[in-house]
Amino acid sequence: MKKKIVILGSTGSIGRSALEVIRRDKKSFDIFLLTANNNYKKLIKQAKQFKARNVVIKNQKYYLRVKSLLKKNKTKVYSGNIPLNKIIKTKIDYTVSAIVGLAGLQPTIDAIKLSKVVAIANKETIICAWQILSKLIKKYKTKIMPVDSEHFSIMELTKNISNEEIAEIIITASGGPFLNLPAYKLKKIKPNEAIKHPNWKMGKKISVDSANLMNKVFEVIEAHKMFKFEFKKYKIMIHPQSYVHSIIRFKNGLIKMILYNTDMKIPISNILYNSKNKNLEIPNIEIKKINNINFKKVNKEFFPSIKIIDKYVKFGSSTPIIINASNEVLVNYFLKEKIGFLDIVRTINRIFKDKEFTKYARRNAKSVNDIKFIDNWARLKTIDMCVR
Ligand code: NDP
Repeated sequence: MKKKIVILGSTGSIGRSALEVIRRDKKSFDIFLLTANNNYKKLIKQAKQFKARNVVIKNQKYYLRVKSLLKKNKTKVYSGNIPLNKIIKTKIDYTVSAIVGLAGLQPTIDAIKLSKVVAIANKETIICAWQILSKLIKKYKTKIMPVDSEHFSIMELTKNISNEEIAEIIITASGGPFLNLPAYKLKKIKPNEAIKHPNWKMGKKISVDSANLMNKVFEVIEAHKMFKFEFKKYKIMIHPQSYVHSIIRFKNGLIKMILYNTDMKIPISNILYNSKNKNLEIPNIEIKKINNINFKKVNKEFFPSIKIIDKYVKFGSSTPIIINASNEVLVNYFLKEKIGFLDIVRTINRIFKDKEFTKYARRNAKSVNDIKFIDNWARLKTIDMCVR
C-alpha cells in the first residue's frame, strides 16, 4: 500500500527535500496535500509532478490563478486558513510539518489529529506550543519525530536511554558564515551575506537564525521540550564542518555521536522509511574528511544570543513565545534592511527588560488563543522598540 503523505510548506527548503526523497520512489507514496504561502508557481509544478490530490495556496490573492492553472488536473485547490480536516477525510501515514514560523502552529495541530506520524521541522511551533502538541500526541496516539538534524540525532542516540544515564548532550553549531569574521564587521552585515550559510541550503529565516546562533537558542529549547532530559545537560559547541550534529556523553564513559552529510534528505528519508537502511543514493561523508573535523567552545561575546538560553528557564513558561515572536519580527526587519544584524539580539534582550515582560512570560499558555495573545504582545512591543 502506498503511504499517504501531507507536506505543509512543500515549496520551502525542507518541503522540497521531502519531495526529492519521494520523487526517487514515487510508487511508494500518495501525495494527499501540498501547501504554500505565496509561491503558487512552484506549488502548481509540484502538484502536477506528484499528482497531488489537494493543494492549499494560503494567500487568497493566488487562489483563482492556481485553480485555473490546475483545471485540467484532478488536484483540488483550497486557499486561506482552511482546517485540514475539511480537506482530508482519511488517516494520513506521514505529515511533514515544514512551514516556517508560528504560522505552522494550527496546521501542525490539525496534522497531529489526522496523521500516524508527524515529521516536524517547524521548530517555532515546538518551542511555543509543546504543552499543547504533547497532549494531542497522546490523545490521538500520533508519533512525532524531529526533522532538525541535531534533534534527529539525539532521538537516534537516546532510544531507551534515561536521563540518569546521560552526563551531557552537546548540540553542535557550524558558527554560520561569520564565525571567523572580526567582530567590528558584524555591524555592517547585509541580508544577502547572512543568508549564505557555509554548509546548509536553507530558507532565509533559519539562515539568519544560524548566522547569529539564535537557531541554537531555539534548538536547545526544542530539545528540552521534546526529550525530557534535564535542561542543564545541554551544551553547545562550535563544529564548523557540520558533520556531527549532536553528541551524547554517557555517565559510563562512552561518547556517542552520529555523522552524516549536510543534507536534510537524510533525516527526512530515515523518518519516512522508519530508519530501515534504505539506500538513499545521497553522498556519504568520505572517511578521510573525519581527519579534519574540530570542535571548540562558543565565544559568547561574539555570539551574545547564546546567553538568552539561560533566560529561557529563568522567567516564565511563555518566555519562548516572546523570544520567538520578537525574533520573527526582527529577522523580517533585518531582511528588509530596516535594522542591522546586531539589532536582532540586542532588541530581544531589550524586551526582557520591558516592565510588562514578566507578566506575559508567566502567563500559562494553554490554548492556541493564549499563545496568539502573548505572541501578539511581543510582536507589537518589538515593532515599537524598532521605530523608537
Ligand atoms: P522556507 O522559508 O524555505 O520554507 C517555508 C515554507 O513555509 C514555504 O513553503 C512557505 O511558502 C511556507 N510558508 C511561509 N510562511 C507561511 C505562512 N504564513 N503560512 C503558510 N505557509 C507559509 O523554510 P525552511 O524550509 O528552511 O524551514 C521550514 C521550517 O523548518 C522552519 O521552522 C525551520 O526552522 C525548520 N528547519 C529547517 C531546516 C532547513 O534545512 N531548511 C533545518 C531544520 C529545521 P512559500 O514558499 O509560498 O513562501
